[in-house]
Amino acid sequence: MTATRWLAEYAWLPDYAEPTPDVLIEAVDGRITAVAPLTAGRPTAGVEVLGDAVRLPGLTLPGLANAHSHAFHRALRGRTHSGRGDFWTWRDRMYAVAQRLDPDSYLALARATYAEMALAGITCVGEFHYLHHGPGGSPYEDPNAMSAALVEAAAQAGIRITLLDTCYLTATVDGDPLVGPQRRFGDGDALRWADRVDAFTPAAGHARVGAAIHSVRAVPAEQLATVAGWADRRGAPLHVHLSEQPAENDACRAAHGRTPTRLLADHGVLGPDVTAVHATHPTGADVALLGESRTGICLCPTTERDLADGIGPARRMAEAGSPLSLGSDSHAVVDLFEEARAVELDERLRTRRRGHFTAVDLLAAATTGGHAALGWADAGRLAVGDRADLVTVRLDTARTAGVPPVGAFFAATAADVSSVVVDGRQVVRDGRHLTVDVPRELHAAIEEVAGAREE
Ligand SMILES: [Zn+2]
Repeated sequence: MTATRWLAEYAWLPDYAEPTPDVLIEAVDGRITAVAPLTAGRPTAGVEVLGDAVRLPGLTLPGLANAHSHAFHRALRGRTHSGRGDFWTWRDRMYAVAQRLDPDSYLALARATYAEMALAGITCVGEFHYLHHGPGGSPYEDPNAMSAALVEAAAQAGIRITLLDTCYLTATVDGDPLVGPQRRFGDGDALRWADRVDAFTPAAGHARVGAAIHSVRAVPAEQLATVAGWADRRGAPLHVHLSEQPAENDACRAAHGRTPTRLLADHGVLGPDVTAVHATHPTGADVALLGESRTGICLCPTTERDLADGIGPARRMAEAGSPLSLGSDSHAVVDLFEEARAVELDERLRTRRRGHFTAVDLLAAATTGGHAALGWADAGRLAVGDRADLVTVRLDTARTAGVPPVGAFFAATAADVSSVVVDGRQVVRDGRHLTVDVPRELHAAIEEVAGAREE
């Protein structure tokens, strides 16, 4: 295989507090084979000549991982955000879109959504997928047709995917049955969920299958261990929505006499391969349980902001031992720079103090933290042997001009990403997706599922 070489004006290398200037990066067959800072413009070690290295002006980062996505929520952007109400009224609007999707329209919508992510420097997505079945809940001829559409969408958009197949069985923590649009989410029980997921084995190298428990509302307590056991046997990541809303805590206490976190712990759900999404309203004891078990926390600050969820205790959870990752969740915003700085800025609003997370902490949440949460331990660092994911942010745009490279996470936006390489393959160049006309495809796909009929 021939080597591809890039010369990054700045690159953020592992274990460095700030970016390094003039770094030569080489990849063969999708893997990084050399990372060599230049001295006085010349290679120092590992690489003989600059040769035809592609120049990457700006700051090159490892691939960003979006650890929590519901692709179809992209169709709701701007349609619900100015209204009154709360999480629960928003959810009704979201169900209306869910009702209209089928494998073809979902492929089109997810392809455009994932291509928007690629433009934002996201090289891997964790799709928390529960829209499994046809209208009314009858399975498609291929019961995994919707999962297959999502995996194909990621391939066409040029990014990797961890399909977190979500077990969603009940409407409430008291076990009320799924009704209306929710019937498309259900498999009946956790064993039948596991049978269906077992049958889904995408051969594509860009995809991996993991599991999710939608929430303590949606999986009865006595079936939690079935889902956790499936993930454990597969060595697959397991994600769960946790304490996004105080109402979930209240209902869980009323039904089970304990918090959602305690309930998960008591059924063997927590652990280092597990990621709790949101964890906005944990108790002090919950924070300790999550940290001691090394359960990861995926924060989704722009969604939590949009849905009026609240601000989770990110710093306390990190100090307790939980690694952090980031997700754009409902895609009100697809911009991991915004998610990352919100982790620090929201903490400032809560505590009225500055300086809780360093730039390196935020970089880790956006890169290694997210990839680890999605089961890709070999991605997220510009290091020999890792996957060749290179995300370059320009430092000469109206937003970033004059910003020192170390300040990128406090200044850059997704719109400043100029070049994206995923597994050694160029997906975005000069700020354009090479195969998807993202605005046009988003417009068409969203018209199809959320267009005039609803407005
Ligand atoms: Zn979610």
